Amino acid sequence: MTFSNLNRTDMINTLTAEEFDVLIIGGGITGAGIALDAATRGMKTALVEMQDFAAGTSSRSTKLVHGGLRYLKQFEVKMVAEVGKERAIVYENGPHVTTPEWMLLPMHKGGTFGKFSTSIGLRVYDFLAGVRKSERRSMLNVRETLSKEPLVKKDGLKGGGYYVEYRTDDARLTIEVMKAAAEKGAMPVNYLKVEKLLYDEQGKVCGAAAADQLTGRVHEIRAKKVINAAGPWVDSIREKDGSKKGKTLRLTKGVHLVIDQSKFPLKQAVYFDTPDKRMVFAIPRDGKTYVGTTDTFYNSNPVNPKMTVSDRTYIINAINFMFPSVKIAENDIESSWAGVRPLIWEEGKDPSEISRKDEIWESDTGLLTIAGGKLTGYRKMAETIVDLLAEKFKQESNRTFSRSITKTLPISGGNVGGASKFQEFIRFQTEKGTSIGLSAEHSRHLVKMYGSNVGIIFNMIETKRSEAENYGLPIVLWSKLKYAIEHEMAATPVDFFNRRTGALLFDIETVRNYQGQVISYMADAFNWDTAAERNYENQLNQELSFAIKPADQD
Ligand SMILES: Cc1cc2nc3c(=O)[nH]c(=O)nc-3n(C[C@H](O)[C@H](O)[C@H](O)COP(=O)(O)OP(=O)(O)OC[C@H]3O[C@@H](n4cnc5c(N)ncnc54)[C@H](O)[C@@H]3O)c2cc1C
Repeated sequence: MTFSNLNRTDMINTLTAEEFDVLIIGGGITGAGIALDAATRGMKTALVEMQDFAAGTSSRSTKLVHGGLRYLKQFEVKMVAEVGKERAIVYENGPHVTTPEWMLLPMHKGGTFGKFSTSIGLRVYDFLAGVRKSERRSMLNVRETLSKEPLVKKDGLKGGGYYVEYRTDDARLTIEVMKAAAEKGAMPVNYLKVEKLLYDEQGKVCGAAAADQLTGRVHEIRAKKVINAAGPWVDSIREKDGSKKGKTLRLTKGVHLVIDQSKFPLKQAVYFDTPDKRMVFAIPRDGKTYVGTTDTFYNSNPVNPKMTVSDRTYIINAINFMFPSVKIAENDIESSWAGVRPLIWEEGKDPSEISRKDEIWESDTGLLTIAGGKLTGYRKMAETIVDLLAEKFKQESNRTFSRSITKTLPISGGNVGGASKFQEFIRFQTEKGTSIGLSAEHSRHLVKMYGSNVGIIFNMIETKRSEAENYGLPIVLWSKLKYAIEHEMAATPVDFFNRRTGALLFDIETVRNYQGQVISYMADAFNWDTAAERNYENQLNQELSFAIKPADQD
């Protein structure tokens, strides 16, 4: 069965007909990682996601796979070391969704990091995160700092630190991990919302009733173990389980703004001080620059956090503080996104001070909850909770499962012969693309985006390209759409434009220009009636408006 909502009925029939070893609630990066780890150990694995995969926090991050340099300031040495080491693994297993990116840390008089503390801090970071030699930090003088990024404020500049972070596409990372899980036999389905947990005679959790958000039907899924990986919603699942006690979550919201390079021609990623002594990132990507994040307590619905007027003002002020010559104004903002961090509540701490570490909680009913954490640490988090699961199966039913193999397992699209061979892979495959009539630029773009899955796309282009003409779609956009529908469980235009391609964030023009054609194509693929088509069109327009128009308040 391919990983496609065209097979939805069969997938749901399988989910309801069989008993699984484990049911995972939540299809963000945490749930995806657990599904992959469990499936590769031989556990019969199901996963349900109430929205699209990654529609929660996992498409709304700063999109960095990083050790979290700033957490060193809070002496979270163990976390920095662990997460820092994980980033190398994430890169190795999926170089098509993770790219090394040199980061400039300018130092100013009175700023967060002094020359000495930056040098020591970055050295400790290199050491803790096990940074490879070619990527170790260097310290720059004023001239060198400005040559890396001439837009940085000159007033009070003392120099800079230069070190490597890894840039990712969080939603695509999640989908590639989810696809890998499905390839290994897991059954993840999106748009299935857990409404109720099911219990056996001993009061132990043994599954869930989930409502299909596309049809309204409710399905019961049985499993020996249930894992709550619902991110910002973990407490709402614990409420259903009657086990929301002890530690709880506190949500904080983070916003990013996207500006065209013609307005903010940043050539170098920069990690910089805000006027109120926090630190934010400005990162060039695909002809745009994105900047964030804010960090404020959040008490509203986590489904659709929005940029508010004050979030926008805060980030614009931060940009103009560090890059005074660019003079960004409200109407320069092309797009934005907002996400909520599922943090474990610590009394008396400010949002930015709360630890990002993860924890596992077990309730009396046997429900396992995994809370907190970061995108970067997803694989290790998954390994830890599946180790626990394996131990339970051993104790309770004498079943044994193999150890985790995800450390050296490429994610979907990551079979390119290792990160060091990726450039060679790109060169070779780009030629294949040009041999079927693509331009070198388009071909390279597709290879970089889809890694070792690009063969499927090239094959589509070779055999079905007339479809693109029939729908008035450019060949590259059409091939992404067809692939997203047939191999990546895209069910709506927002799934496609946001989480499968990132266009809603970084290429809003394409969304505006081709939304009608994409909706028509999807309507035919999924047999939508006019009402459904209109509904999805409205949904997309609402997302477009969220991206640009700030709300007055949360
Ligand atoms: C602004 C911001 C910046 C960040 N930057 C970074 C960064 O640069 N690097 C980094 O490593 N980390 C970063 N993080 C943290 C990282 O994004 C999160 O730790 C991670 O995405 C959390 O993933 P998750 O799977 O636990 O949660 P989510 O991605 O939210 O997934 C949980 C899923 O559960 C689903 N769900 C909830 N209830 C139900 C239900 N009843 N039934 C079925 N499904 C349900 C939700 O729809 C959701 O999709 C950032 C976070 C934010 C907010």
